[in-house]
Amino acid sequence: MSRSLVNLQSELAEAGIDVLRVIYADVIGTVRSKDLLVSQLDKISHGGPAFSQGVWITTTQGGVLDGGSILSDGLSDFISQIVPESWRALPWEPGVAYVVAGAANPDMTPNEFAPRTLLERVVGEYAALGLQPVIGPELEFYIADRNSDGSYRRALTQPGRVYSSGATVDPKGTFLHLLRMLDQLRIGVFAGNHEFSPSQYEVNIWHGESLDACDRIFMLKAAVKDLIARVGQAATFSGKPWSDEGGSGFHLHVSVVDVDGENLMHSGHELSEIALHMIAGIVEHGPALTALCNPTVNAFKRLGPDTLAPYRANWGHDNRSAMVRIPPERGGGTRLEMRLGDGAANPYLMTAAILAAGLDGIRRMLVAPPPAVGYSYEDESQVVLPMTLGDALDALRADTALIEILGGPLVDVFEVMKRDELERYAEAVDDPSTRDVTEWE
Ligand code: GLU
Ligand code: MG
Ligand code: MG
Repeated sequence: MSRSLVNLQSELAEAGIDVLRVIYADVIGTVRSKDLLVSQLDKISHGGPAFSQGVWITTTQGGVLDGGSILSDGLSDFISQIVPESWRALPWEPGVAYVVAGAANPDMTPNEFAPRTLLERVVGEYAALGLQPVIGPELEFYIADRNSDGSYRRALTQPGRVYSSGATVDPKGTFLHLLRMLDQLRIGVFAGNHEFSPSQYEVNIWHGESLDACDRIFMLKAAVKDLIARVGQAATFSGKPWSDEGGSGFHLHVSVVDVDGENLMHSGHELSEIALHMIAGIVEHGPALTALCNPTVNAFKRLGPDTLAPYRANWGHDNRSAMVRIPPERGGGTRLEMRLGDGAANPYLMTAAILAAGLDGIRRMLVAPPPAVGYSYEDESQVVLPMTLGDALDALRADTALIEILGGPLVDVFEVMKRDELERYAEAVDDPSTRDVTEWE
């Protein structure tokens, strides 16, 4: 930790911040948080010489964060490790600041269930090869109104407004207000637009080093939820909130740079060997990645042919029907776009898993299959991705090479939580095999 919590306490007080809102992702990426009073920060910090290393967070939240309580005998404590440089004042709530956190065990050893810790480890494995991954996340979401019976409806109904701005797609100026607030939050948001379906939006945020970019995307999710709730509406990042409209993706642009920041994904106008190995790794591990990038029953109703979401484990040049799209830019902008995930995914876990698959491709020098050309949903030379959460969990369990990089205990916890979700879904829904989105979801 580069700055101690004592320094953070005085820094926050000087900036007029009296409440520090610690936000962290549970395993499926839901924003969990706890408000800490800045005046008490030195007292609630992990004591003694380890004072600078973290703050205690209650056991219940420990269970939520790491899922460890499901497998262990009791609800054990953990240390929430605030990332001091991540704090951002909330322009819409004077005196309050977000800060993101990872987790450590009470003896300050790394917590093997914590997704942020996993991402740190995977980034470290790239660093050992002289490489640094750079990621650029894209998040789509819907804004919904609440019906009197508690269900939700899309706030807008008129179709055909993709890439529109102004009153036709934002009659009350809610989205414009959201963009301005996100700008003032200083997380690198630079643009926003209305998407293909009514009430569906996308916000664009600058790419960056993986941990920093995940911290910023996580703050973005928290901010969108909070700001939209403030005006009496709801924002959802679920993959497929409505049967009759398009899903929402969480695309991840990925490149690697060398120690001097030089993009290594291209060789002149062609893709480099490293880029092709990464693509090969991501395609090979595509079925196993599906569970981690799409961690809900609902997510699987987004995936499929004719959706702009993936159906097969494939890749292609500027091809939005493929799982991995290679955008046309070259030079410093050469990258791959992994289109598999949706916004319900934990950004740290999803990013770590995609980078782990790419790393496996680099280490084993895997050879990429031929790129998909044109409409690739029917290209039978490439395998179909798992189309249910159960099948995706089976594919993850079968992928021992990926589990080796991610760590067995984390995958065990993930699987226990997700099988439980499947059981609850099967009990609650008349026809669990339905592709229609159910009220339960
Ligand atoms: N909404 C699509 C998805 O589910 C992506 C559309 C786009 O490419 O912007 O992934
Ligand atoms: Mg989009
Ligand atoms: Mg995209």
